[in-house]
Amino acid sequence: MNSRVARQGIAFVLSAPSGTGKTTLAVEILERVQSLTRTISCTTRSPRQGERDGVDYTFVDQNRFFEARDAGEFLEWARVHDNYYGTPRSEIERIHGVGSDALMVIDVQGGEQVRERLEDAVMIFVLPPSPEALRQRLEGRDGADSVAGSTVNLRLRNATEEISRFLGYDYLVINDSLAEAVEELQAIVVAERCRRTCRQEMGQDILDSFRASLGDSI
Ligand code: 5GP
Repeated sequence: MNSRVARQGIAFVLSAPSGTGKTTLAVEILERVQSLTRTISCTTRSPRQGERDGVDYTFVDQNRFFEARDAGEFLEWARVHDNYYGTPRSEIERIHGVGSDALMVIDVQGGEQVRERLEDAVMIFVLPPSPEALRQRLEGRDGADSVAGSTVNLRLRNATEEISRFLGYDYLVINDSLAEAVEELQAIVVAERCRRTCRQEMGQDILDSFRASLGDSI
């Protein structure tokens, strides 16, 4: 398939309740799709083991975060689980500037702000197939990735609240089978890149070349 990327950058938003697998989905889709780059958010939370400053997140203290927020540096920001997170506008500019499309993996509060501020943003919501499936994921089969029992019910309540906001999104992906969910995400990105509005200039160039070639032959 023609792998040329739309000249006008697209901003994708990927939101999902905690435990739905959006981080895994994001990693998979970023590996498979060319010219798609994840925005690096600012956060006030501490780095987890293995996380690198400026790669996974830009880690800042609360003062710096509020300074940036008050200076209007964030396209969106939210408080999530007692920490602040925000997407710097400069991230979208950086990514679009190198001809890539941007992928924001952010919560629903942030998603709603992006929808208001970037009307062309493509909003994707990932849903768990059922409360049982989410509970199982949160509890973790082997315990390695599990969430403490006392917080599972809280996360399920939060998930219900988040899921109730899916109407603000353009696409719904049900993460039942990871492989299918990744395929659906990939299909969404490809379809969005084929939109006439994204390919307007390409279409015009082709039309111009047809007109020019007719002119030559006359
Ligand atoms: P974590 O601390 O586990 O990396 O992320 C916690 C939550 O914050 C996740 O739902 C994640 O998607 C969300 N998040 C990460 N970066 C941003 C951001 O820049 N803005 C918003 N609104 N949410 C974010």
